[in-house]
Amino acid sequence: MEYKITFNHYQQGLEQGKFLGLTCNACHSVIFPPAAVCRECGSSDLTPTELSGRGTLRTFTVVRVAPEGKKPPYIVAMAELDEGPWALGNLINMNPDAADMGLIGKRVSLGRHMVKGDTYASDDTWVLTFALKDA
Ligand SMILES: [Zn+2]
Repeated sequence: MEYKITFNHYQQGLEQGKFLGLTCNACHSVIFPPAAVCRECGSSDLTPTELSGRGTLRTFTVVRVAPEGKKPPYIVAMAELDEGPWALGNLINMNPDAADMGLIGKRVSLGRHMVKGDTYASDDTWVLTFALKDA
């Protein structure tokens, strides 16, 4: 099976501030992060697509008991990207102790953050972040 965007290509995109996904040529869904096949219809007929990096916050949780190496509290959120897919990331410009249901529906912009290799992941990895647009 051919990967139109490999994990390394996706990571290089994040390093450059680009959010690389795929558009399904069969059902026109946008897949993000990239996968081998469309999550909606299973087609492997996919075209690389650069996403806008904008979305709407749909759900979140405040982590108060963190895994080794992480410093709580912090906010893990899911945002519905303007192109359709939902993505997981940390909400970075909000005090976790002030987080409440008023966050749901807020506009966010995507960013990325380098996580150094640790007990659970041997390699340094770029991960997604969200920032409130009006904060
Ligand atoms: Zn599809």
